[in-house]
Amino acid sequence: MKCATCSAPLPPNKSRCQYCGTVTDVDLSGKHHFTTNQPTTPRPCCGCGKIMATVNVGTEDAPFYIERCSDCLGLFFDPGELDSFVDHTIRSVFSINQLALASMSNVSSSEVVRYRKCPVCSKLMNRINFGKSSGVIVDQCQDHGIYLDAGELHRILAWVRLGGKLRAQANTDAETEAASRTVAQARKYLDQPSSTYQPGMENAPETMVSKVTDFLIKIMGNT
Ligand SMILES: [Zn+2]
Ligand SMILES: [Zn+2]
Ligand SMILES: [Zn+2]
Repeated sequence: MKCATCSAPLPPNKSRCQYCGTVTDVDLSGKHHFTTNQPTTPRPCCGCGKIMATVNVGTEDAPFYIERCSDCLGLFFDPGELDSFVDHTIRSVFSINQLALASMSNVSSSEVVRYRKCPVCSKLMNRINFGKSSGVIVDQCQDHGIYLDAGELHRILAWVRLGGKLRAQANTDAETEAASRTVAQARKYLDQPSSTYQPGMENAPETMVSKVTDFLIKIMGNT
């Protein structure tokens, strides 16, 4: 990646040029068509405090509004919007590139940890590893949305393209399965009447199986 103004090479995962200070837009410009609107409610940028503009990254018929700082190029997504933007942009990923994903999450950041204020409620936001394992640390207000520094959307989309989301989903499924197995096993032994309990007894009576099933449905919902 090169600086849009002076063509100096940009350091990996950085959008601000270390020579001329210009921020190069690697997130939207030339990648997603967008139009800029006046914001209906002014929201200060989490990165620099400037009032963000509302941009439509959808179409005229199906608008999709996010907030964007024209100064530092930070982006703000309302709750759920970032996920739907990602899902809309990248529809078909069928394989997981483990090697590329590993090298991606290994990029260490030398940046000082900064907690940012939510543009809506002004509370300090949480720092979240997007998708649990992307290595992209985003700022999230539980109630109002997610702020991305310049370049972070680009990295998130690259991670999804490499199968990162797919891998995270597979891990979650495996964890859920392991958890339910543990619960089922625990129930099995807890439900044994102590007088008839025999260590190593593996065959659960019919009623117990249905009890365990009910219990699992209760705690896991319809996942
Ligand atoms: Zn430059
Ligand atoms: Zn800004
Ligand atoms: Zn908030």
